[in-house]
Amino acid sequence: MLPVTNDRPERPAPARSTWTNWARTERSSPVLTVAPRSAEQVVRVIERARETGHPVKPIGASHSFTAIGATDGIRIGLDRMQGLVSADPERGRVTLRGGTRLWQLPAILGPLGLALPNMGDIDRQSITGATQTGTHGTGLGHGGIATGIVGLTLVTGTGEILRIDESEHAELLPAAALGLGALGIVTEVTLQCVPRFLLQAEEAPAALGEVLDTFVPRTRAADHFEFFWFPHTRAVRTKTNTRLPLAHGAEPLTRLSRFVDEELANNLAFGACVELGSIAPAATPGINRFVESVSSRRRYVDESHRVFVTNRRIRFRELEYSVPLEAVPEVMRELGAMIERKRHRVSFPIEVRAAAADGLLLSTAHGRDSGYIAVHRFHRDRDREYFRDAEEILAAHAGRPHWGKMHTRGAEELRAVYPEFDRFRATRDRLDPDRVFANPYLSRVLGE
Ligand SMILES: Cc1cc2nc3c(=O)[nH]c(=O)nc-3n(C[C@H](O)[C@H](O)[C@H](O)COP(=O)(O)OP(=O)(O)OC[C@H]3O[C@@H](n4cnc5c(N)ncnc54)[C@H](O)[C@@H]3O)c2cc1C
Repeated sequence: MLPVTNDRPERPAPARSTWTNWARTERSSPVLTVAPRSAEQVVRVIERARETGHPVKPIGASHSFTAIGATDGIRIGLDRMQGLVSADPERGRVTLRGGTRLWQLPAILGPLGLALPNMGDIDRQSITGATQTGTHGTGLGHGGIATGIVGLTLVTGTGEILRIDESEHAELLPAAALGLGALGIVTEVTLQCVPRFLLQAEEAPAALGEVLDTFVPRTRAADHFEFFWFPHTRAVRTKTNTRLPLAHGAEPLTRLSRFVDEELANNLAFGACVELGSIAPAATPGINRFVESVSSRRRYVDESHRVFVTNRRIRFRELEYSVPLEAVPEVMRELGAMIERKRHRVSFPIEVRAAAADGLLLSTAHGRDSGYIAVHRFHRDRDREYFRDAEEILAAHAGRPHWGKMHTRGAEELRAVYPEFDRFRATRDRLDPDRVFANPYLSRVLGE
């Protein structure tokens, strides 16, 4: 391992009176915000919090739609704990400081010849915020980002610094890698990476019925398959990514074409359409048919992170559930029927993805290959009924809500869909017996 040191002295962070998340769905007022530089400084914060009786909550990029990161106690910002700690290029492993953002990874991993095996739609998150909530991309050959964690350093609720990996406290890793921020402050993570690779992206329009009929085999055949369905239309947009070696050579989009497709079409024009839909909901079906009809085919080859990640400038709210992979077509048909029956006017597409089964205790893909179905609303649409009706359908198919996205489930309902739920709670009792990391969201989803 190649050590990299960072021993600059502690400086207090500017106090922040009110915290809000990216989607503007949650806010809270921490009594104090601190920005430690080391695990030892985190320990001092925990000791102080235990003396004063304040709860503690770390925060990453505040991109969760839920109140999972909210606190009225002590907020720990991790922006001073970013970057590479050490690398083991032979094994393809890197150890990163807990506050490192995903967008910083290409510059860290690229020179080592490494990349993340899979990514979600954006790269604004911190590595720990993303993994603690089970952030995932698409592709049945891959689990969520947390499944790549082979080790981590955790400051527990009693102020102990624990190294957890295959040789120390290995039994804690399946809980701590995806721990909802309930088990401690992750100050470092060690990730198993893969050699840098290219992705060939193919985006194309297709018929909804045909894509639903072939969803499972298509998903199994492709490296990364997903589709977007605009409610009130019978058409979808598919995105199929194929992994290629670097030697294949990139065929990237020109700057102009990326700008036209992503900034003008996806952000500006689509933004104008959803604004219009929010002012005049009755126009939404027509707008959706128009947006779908002008979406074009695209094919290009580029470095993996440039293909996985897109710019999402339009602010929205999101609810996403995982369901057993085979249930996806039926769930989508039920959602479509519900939208028409209840006369919801939905301007945002429904996104459908997949991920491999894994063994992390609270992973939404625990023990089963999973389909992910995400419904969205423009942030200014105030109606809550669409999410409520969608959630009823998703939950009825043994659905598990994304921990960082909007949902209404409580501990007893979640216990029924997570076979290792009680093992996770026992780990919480061991690592945070006095509930230093508690907040109302965790009390709801895990119990007191
Ligand atoms: C536009 C947008 C697109 C998204 N796309 C996807 C997607 O494609 N796939 C997907 O699965 N999700 C997606 N998400 C959800 C997002 O990835 C998760 O909500 C993720 O948690 C956000 O990361 P963050 O750094 O902002 O975490 P935060 O929201 O800041 O924190 C999340 C949780 O992690 C805890 N935490 C943070 N740092 C630490 C630490 N060091 N130690 C312990 N706990 C910690 C916090 O206390 C909190 O409980 C998206 C969200 C948005 C807004």
